[in-house]
Parts: sequence; C-alpha cells; structure tokens
Amino acid sequence: MNRRKSKAIQIGDVFVGGNAPIAVQSMTKTDTRDAKATIDQIKELEDCGCEIIRCAVPDMEAAKALRIIKKEIRIPLIADIHFDYRLALEALESGVDGLRLNPGNISDPEKIALVVSSAKKRTVPIRIGVNFGSLPQDLDPALSIAQKMAEAALRHIRILEKLDFSLIKVSLKAFDVPTTIQAYREIAHRIPYPLHIGITESGTPRQGMIRSAIGIGILLSEGLGDTLRVSLTAHPREEVFAAFEILKSLNLREHGATLVSCPTCGRTEVDLVSIASAVEAYLVRIKEPLKVAVMGCVVNGPGEAKDADVGVACGKGKAVLFKKGQQIRSIEESDILNELIKEIERMCASV
Ligand code: SF4
Repeated sequence: MNRRKSKAIQIGDVFVGGNAPIAVQSMTKTDTRDAKATIDQIKELEDCGCEIIRCAVPDMEAAKALRIIKKEIRIPLIADIHFDYRLALEALESGVDGLRLNPGNISDPEKIALVVSSAKKRTVPIRIGVNFGSLPQDLDPALSIAQKMAEAALRHIRILEKLDFSLIKVSLKAFDVPTTIQAYREIAHRIPYPLHIGITESGTPRQGMIRSAIGIGILLSEGLGDTLRVSLTAHPREEVFAAFEILKSLNLREHGATLVSCPTCGRTEVDLVSIASAVEAYLVRIKEPLKVAVMGCVVNGPGEAKDADVGVACGKGKAVLFKKGQQIRSIEESDILNELIKEIERMCASV
C-alpha cells in the first residue's frame, strides 16, 4: 500500500506522519474536571493499546485539571478546545502534548498569536478539526460539502502558516461516509501535513464500527491517514479495539491476538458460538500478535487451523488441536477452551 507522504510531527513521544505507524487515538468520556476518573479511564485505555488521548476542555477548571492528569499518564495528551484562547494557554502551560483547536474560531488575531507563540515555544502541534456540523456560513455556495470542508480547513491552516507555524495535523469529519472520504481526498494533495482520520458521530458500536470500518478503511487503502479515531457512542475501549481491528484487517499494524472463527453451518456439531465467544474474551489480554483459529468442521477447519499459530478444527463432540501447522492431539469439546488457553500461554511464555 502506497501511503501519502506527509510531514512528520511528534505528539509527545509518538511520531505522526512521515513513515511512522498509523497511531490509534481515543477521547475520554469522563468529566475532565474529575481528574481521578479521567486518569483511571486513560490508564485503562493505555492497557488496551491506545497511543494518544484527547480530553475535552470546556472551562478553566478542566484546563487546570490537565496538569494533574498529565503527570499520571504515560501516553501523549491532547487538549480539545473551542473558542477560548485562555483555555489553550492554560492547557499549554499544563504540559499537554497537542492541541485540537481551530484558530479561525478565535476572532481576535492577537489572541491567536499568543496561543500559536506558546505552542511554538513548546513544540506542541495543533490539530485543525473541521466538522460538517460547524462549517462557516460564508463559504462559496457553489462548492460541494466536501469541498467546503476542505476550504474551511485551509482557512484555519493559512492562519497558522502566516504565523510561521507548521506543526499541524488536519481532520475533516462528517457522519456521511462518502462526504468524509471525498473531503480527505480534496485536502490530501493540497497540504503536506499529516491527516487524522475518522467518521464522526458514527453511532453505537453495531452501526458505528461498520460506518467507521468502511470510511476509515477506504481512506487507509488509498494511503490516506496518519492517525485515526473510531468515534463510538460507547466506552472508549471499544474505540481502541475497533481502531486496531481496522488497521489489522489491512495489515497496517499488528496488535494482540486475532481470532479466526467460522460462521458455523449445518455441519457444525459443537457449540462453536459459545466456544469462539469465550476464546475471544480470553484473547483480549494477549499482547502478542497470535492468530488463533476456532473452526466448526473438517471442511475448512484443518486448513485454517493449520494456518494459524494455534487452532482447533471441531467434529462431533471433539476437536483436533493444531499448533504452528502441526496436528498435536485430539481433545474433548469440553476441554477446547482450556487446551487452547494452555497452548497460547505456552506460546506467549516462549516469545
Ligand atoms: S468450517 Fe465447517 S462448520 Fe464452519 S462454516 Fe465452514 S463448513 Fe460450516
């Protein structure tokens, strides 16, 4: 896959753009003013593999809490700020690693200059985030929505460039998947900056993961995207899991175990749905990039199970266990989960 060449920037210790791996972001859903709850949620996300976290900063109390939060977490922290330059200045002084801020929404040029100067002094990048729902009213009505989104982003970008600031990241998000894809295509060849991609307000997990996988997947397959967030109406850990599954599906990142399981059919003679669900729940804790197969019968089962690091091909009340392409032994249906766990633990211990 040829990736678009973008300028490399650094958010804390995470490289974004250039040749860096596509980074997974999420956003806390706690009240940022409640520093303890926010820290606890970020720590949980760190354990899931989240690489960059963003917190909403609606007021000065939230901006001041960033200082406490920043000290307790390992991953880079981005402050999400709208309109109020004082919150941006406070966030920068708190030591955040990035800002999400649209400079065009701060009307006084002197106040914008203060924020940009502080960000520059600290080498803190600014993400310009254009959303379909908040486009300026004075854009050329002849433009398509995607073109308007790109044009709105360019306005913000020009403000930063005029202030000789280039640590920029850009996102253009809409709920509508084709609009979002077109907006990124519009902007990609006009700027050198890295792109943060996602489908905004994509809904609850069932709908949102599909919308996000299609939108983000198409963009990634066109080489667009340097960081991503899957926005879901759910706990943010679901966003991180979904983001890695999208990246893993395109072979762009490795992260934890991958479960290969068949859909079951009239040939299945074990309770494969329960077994696969239990294996999936267990695999959440595995950090190594293992492929684990749980297959229902001897038609496709042995092939997939052999191809995996470890797997089972089930028959009537029994299964054959495979490891690294070799048939190991036959096991009872009731032992499938325990035997797989034993083999996986052995494999992880030897890595
Ligand atoms: S692997 Fe076997 S049981 Fe599973 S869907 Fe395919 S044919 Fe059916």
